[in-house]
Amino acid sequence: MSSCIFCKIAAGELPGEILYEDDHVIAFMDIMPVTKGHVLLIPKTHRENVYDLTSDEASHLFAVAPKIAKAIKDTFEPAGMNLVQNNGAAAGQAVFHFHLHFVPRYDETDGYR
Ligand code: 5GP
Ligand code: ZN
Repeated sequence: MSSCIFCKIAAGELPGEILYEDDHVIAFMDIMPVTKGHVLLIPKTHRENVYDLTSDEASHLFAVAPKIAKAIKDTFEPAGMNLVQNNGAAAGQAVFHFHLHFVPRYDETDGYR
């Protein structure tokens, strides 16, 4: 979708600090990280949210997710990690291209809501 910022990152038309990429998905650092090492994983194909993902797309995203989580864990050495995914404005979705958040947790005061 031409106006979508995450489509532009996936296409290399907007800069992104890329952690992982294959033919179907791309993971990059969140521009306003909730905590150090906050990463987003998206399908390269524009899908608004979880309701629009095919089973194959969801399978691949979650097949890759452990590798992303382990890379973040090894790099930033957090105490824990949240995987979060928002669908719809009422649920806090601000960018309407599916994304899975990886939010490393350091301690109970690290600011994550
Ligand atoms: P949502 O609230 O939709 O679940 O999360 C959207 C996330 O996208 C936020 O954490 C926000 O910081 C991040 N974000 C918004 N615009 C950009 C951008 O241009 N680049 C990157 N890397 N992250 C972005
Ligand atoms: Zn998009």
